Amino acid sequence: MSEDNERANTADAKEENVKRTSNFIKEIINEDLRIGKNNGRVHTRFPPEPNGYLHIGHAKSICLNFGIAAEYNGLCNLRFDDTNPTKEDVEYVESIQDDVRWLGFDWDNRMYYASDYFEQLYEFAEMLIKAGKAYVCDLSPEQMREYRGTLKEPGRESPYRNRSAEENLDLFRRMRAGEFPDGARTLRAKIDMSSGNINLRDPVIYRIQRTHHHRTGDTWCIYPMYDFAHPLSDAIENITHSICTLEFENNRPLYDWFIENLPVKSRPRQIEFARLNLTYTVMSKRKLLELVQKGYVSGWDDPRMPTIAGLRRRGYTPEAIRDFSERIGVAKADSVVDVGLLEHCVREHLNKTALRRMAVLRPLKVVLVNYPEDRFEELETENNPEDPGAGKRAIPFSREIFIEEDDFREDPPKKFFRLAPGQEVRLKSAYIIKCLDVVKDSSGSIKELRCTYDPETKSGTGSERKVKGTLHWVSARHAVDAEVRLYDHLFLKPNPDDVPEGGDYKTNINPQSLIVLKGCKIEPSLREANAGDKFQFLRQGYFCTDLKDFTPEHPVFNRTVSLKDSWAKIEKKGE
Ligand code: ATP
Ligand code: MG
Repeated sequence: MSEDNERANTADAKEENVKRTSNFIKEIINEDLRIGKNNGRVHTRFPPEPNGYLHIGHAKSICLNFGIAAEYNGLCNLRFDDTNPTKEDVEYVESIQDDVRWLGFDWDNRMYYASDYFEQLYEFAEMLIKAGKAYVCDLSPEQMREYRGTLKEPGRESPYRNRSAEENLDLFRRMRAGEFPDGARTLRAKIDMSSGNINLRDPVIYRIQRTHHHRTGDTWCIYPMYDFAHPLSDAIENITHSICTLEFENNRPLYDWFIENLPVKSRPRQIEFARLNLTYTVMSKRKLLELVQKGYVSGWDDPRMPTIAGLRRRGYTPEAIRDFSERIGVAKADSVVDVGLLEHCVREHLNKTALRRMAVLRPLKVVLVNYPEDRFEELETENNPEDPGAGKRAIPFSREIFIEEDDFREDPPKKFFRLAPGQEVRLKSAYIIKCLDVVKDSSGSIKELRCTYDPETKSGTGSERKVKGTLHWVSARHAVDAEVRLYDHLFLKPNPDDVPEGGDYKTNINPQSLIVLKGCKIEPSLREANAGDKFQFLRQGYFCTDLKDFTPEHPVFNRTVSLKDSWAKIEKKGE
């Protein structure tokens, strides 16, 4: 881990980051506004390539681009950078729109595709040819690589570099007309083969590629390269600030070259910021696609995926993700953010908003021997102590209840304030009970507990006797059966790419990242839940109903996060 990464993992560094960096892009914009650039307009865009689902890194970029537009009373476009038809798909186009909207942002009617501009981009290319600034090159990809040179050595000029404008125009038109096989020729910008910046060594701007495009069909057999299409799409849309990630820093001179050498109406300015990386998470689309295709996860929206669809299904809220993006800020240097911070953000939001419910995940039956068999009563309990407006609800209580297996120890260690033979605990919003007896089956495992309840200790009556432990519980007769899916980090190591030489990140997959519990007992009010609802199961964590598999007959809950907040601890330590 680099020093930078280590620093980013401390609360102090994070604080500093927020203060230092939330301004660096805004400072540039403020200065542009001060000197009257762009007539005071601020217009950004979010430009995904529709070749995968969006992930939490994209969410950072979305929050940044749409957030800045909102802050400056500007606009933000959604633009699909669909210049590479081999990997792109309509499924992705749709999921991307869903995700941006779900995060809470709106592009009004400004949804565009780079493919909308194919004709215009083609014309731009002809203009460069006519101006002697682009040429058709017949070098093979291998030859081109040889000619390109290295970081230390300048490149060599292509033998086709000095073709006349007429010849180039003729060849380029024939490329478009489909006269040459795939890969036979390219159109290259004529810039500088000896430039210290390899991006400027006559980059390819068009390639021949007979691939069906999800929008333009088979109209084109030549496609513009990203480096050509991107700046010009920005210019066509009158973008003022083109915010992108750091790996494009060395492409900026090329970006500017296209803008300067073509008659575009506006001159967008590229600004780079650091990509988001998270511990225990892979963020590369190639890897995420592999995890989906090879079945390591159930799909792009598997709740263990860092995709927005996965986070949504896991129970994350848009508010939590926006809060997270705000807190990490924008930096100019790459860093790795502790996934604990993301979890902290969702806990904070759910703590304020999620209804409290009781659910027993690994049930152990308790019979209250002095509670009449045919009796039941409705006890009252709060829906969310953090939100008085959330009100109260009734929970049924009866002779047989379930408690958590873990909450009983036959042979308890010291300071075990839960249930044990002869020991007392309070049942949340109910009574104090005392364990008399342990009933075992023939194999020696515990079948049920026999307890007494103390009728004088009913919660809320003012006559409450105090005991150290309080347990959650569910009335056996009223309980609803449910499936609960416990999720953990998908990778065992903070850096999933930390593998021995020649190793594969997939060997770091956490085999315990999903534990499915069937036969959980949940309180009957949860019968009313709808797909996507969020709850705090007392003492267990935050849970949501699964967006795909939940039905009232077969309730399925996902654990979003446990209650243990590692980040809060880090923050405390840092104080
Ligand atoms: P690809 O390798 O397919 O280009 P990508 O992750 O760059 O993958 P894009 O669809 O091109 O995906 O990304 C859309 C926008 O989101 C770009 O502006 C990109 O810079 C930004 N982005 C992508 N990943 C991150 C990340 N981890 N953190 C912040 N921004 C990101
Ligand atoms: Mg990209």
